[in-house]
Amino acid sequence: MPDVQIATEQCTGCGMCVNFCPVEVFQLETSGEKNTVKVVNPSACWACDTCVGQCPTNAIRIIESAEEAADREARFKPSAPPLDPAEQQQYQEWHEVLTQTLGLRWNPVAISLIGHDQPLPAAPMPRVKLRYCQSLMMARRGKTVMMPAQCHACPDGTHILGLTEIPPKLASGEMYLHFKKLASMEAARQMIKERPRLPEKSTLATLVSPLKDAKVTPDVIAVIAKPEQIMWLTMSASYSTGKRFDFKVSGYNAQCVETTLLPYTQQRFNLSLGCYGCRASSDIGDELMFMGIPRQQLPELINGLKKLGAKAIGDSRNKIYLPPNI
Ligand code: SF4
Ligand code: SF4
Repeated sequence: MPDVQIATEQCTGCGMCVNFCPVEVFQLETSGEKNTVKVVNPSACWACDTCVGQCPTNAIRIIESAEEAADREARFKPSAPPLDPAEQQQYQEWHEVLTQTLGLRWNPVAISLIGHDQPLPAAPMPRVKLRYCQSLMMARRGKTVMMPAQCHACPDGTHILGLTEIPPKLASGEMYLHFKKLASMEAARQMIKERPRLPEKSTLATLVSPLKDAKVTPDVIAVIAKPEQIMWLTMSASYSTGKRFDFKVSGYNAQCVETTLLPYTQQRFNLSLGCYGCRASSDIGDELMFMGIPRQQLPELINGLKKLGAKAIGDSRNKIYLPPNI
């Protein structure tokens, strides 16, 4: 159980933490004209840090105990065999094709949703809780990050990816109204109804790494790139068939739903324009967007990309149709 601390001298009694905590850890008490907030249900806290982010005076600290950290290390011992070298080499080649042909600045990210019946690979777990989108940020910057539920900070991503149950305040839609991103409870409930999620507690841990360093067979590969680069990947997918695509995009839950879950469950790549959460909590630039590709579909895209890279991409980037007098 984390220690939930409020610096009383900083607290103004605004009640933001009460509104935003998905599991009712806080209670607002009024005495005369003064509001004070109390920690009434600390054992429910899952250290999502939502209250920390919402408190206007920075008055809240959520501190993981040493016992919790030790318990996590003991419970999540690696037992998976190392990845087959031939498979690892395949990922390194795909990584090269993607980064070289598209000129990607960031690593394509291998994502694995590890089930309770799967052995865990040897992979580092973060010492502080991260949002799922923050773990993807670290992976595209070169790090491998494995996160069981205890390491996840975002209540949305954590239940969407099947690590936990959905907290009641999220299920009811109430939480989303506090963020002022939807007009009504009805709209919030509709958003939740249309939003897919994996079965509760079906995922033991998320694992993300640069594609070239994949520790297990990935489920999905995420590419975080500029629209022009994503355009070539989309064209790569239709290179052999000429087909057009429909995408599921909402501006909500970009990395957990649109880049990970939908490609994983539908076995088709999906595009995302990003979302409020990942843009507010990771270093995603305004100019970047996302593509999630199921691993089974990646060879088709790599093949198309190689062909487009032989002429079309270079010609386009060289602006061959631009009149020379401009
Ligand atoms: S959000 Fe911060 S300032 Fe507001 S009641 Fe909670 S602890 Fe106090
Ligand atoms: S960290 Fe999350 S669960 Fe814990 S008190 Fe804050 S908002 Fe509630």
